[in-house]
Amino acid sequence: MEEMLLHTENIDEATAEVEAAGGHILLQLGHNLLVAKVPSYVAKQNSFSQASAHIPSSASVQSLSHANAYWMAREDELKPQPTVQKWTERTAPMAFKREDSDKRFQGESPYSPTMTGKIAFAILAASGPGSLAISDSELQKIESECITGLKFWVNQAQKNVVSLSFYVYYGKATISASNPTSCSSYAACHNVFANPTLQAFGFSTDQTGRDQVAQHIKDRAGADGAFFGFFSKYRQRHFAYAYFGGGPLYMQYSNDGWGSDQIDRVFAHEVGHVFNAPDEYTNCKCSTSYGKGSCTARNSNCKTCTSSQGGCIMDKNDLGNLCQSSKKHIGWC
Ligand SMILES: [Zn+2]
Repeated sequence: MEEMLLHTENIDEATAEVEAAGGHILLQLGHNLLVAKVPSYVAKQNSFSQASAHIPSSASVQSLSHANAYWMAREDELKPQPTVQKWTERTAPMAFKREDSDKRFQGESPYSPTMTGKIAFAILAASGPGSLAISDSELQKIESECITGLKFWVNQAQKNVVSLSFYVYYGKATISASNPTSCSSYAACHNVFANPTLQAFGFSTDQTGRDQVAQHIKDRAGADGAFFGFFSKYRQRHFAYAYFGGGPLYMQYSNDGWGSDQIDRVFAHEVGHVFNAPDEYTNCKCSTSYGKGSCTARNSNCKTCTSSQGGCIMDKNDLGNLCQSSKKHIGWC
């Protein structure tokens, strides 16, 4: 199988063609690009009537930006990969419970209790004044790192015969807020950039506004669920964190000691939290069951719950491994 970036004017028909040729869709980037895995002979022939590996010069600015982010991610795959480290070896990314987490999946919820089917994801970049600005190439870098992080999950899903693809959007809000000098709480800092970003896109600044962002991208993508992340250079109480049960996630571009080149790994870990997978490197509750979907499991790959811990993104910055218990936590039975 070979991975291809395909441009199409008709996503549905192009998807059907890829599937009829024995391939499958990993990602959809904006409205006209598909990242597909197809049998090698199909890739060589590039024989699709509704899709082509050639990106036309008439493609939209958004499509060209998505394509640049994709090729940035492919180039990074060829570079030497960082040493696998426990999250505790540097500053560990964090996660938080939400008080209404069980209500989040009831009724017409934009959130999916499991990481399955088609999931819409949006990068919301908060670009501030001066040194807080996010340039277009930095936004492409963020997207390229997210693409690698999402491909980790999609490739793991493929190995486990789980249907999963992501529909990726990005949006940049240029805001005037200055950097807070200290953070008395997580919200005290993230609201400084998240609220004007939500307003710039026409959403309210409360939880309802956040839920509406998820609903909006879910509807536009015709997806089964949605989540989104704020990315900025603003001060945060902690450099990276996510909320269980749908997000959002908040990430600083500098990515603390991990650096921007490992946003992919930190992001992939946080996506695990968004879909209810707990940490395995510390503070584990060994008798609690996790997962919101059709299957649940104890945190049996946590270092305090086993004497033979296996490799896992929920334990290390490891884009090669996903353990059995994390699979159950995100709904892969
Ligand atoms: Zn974590």
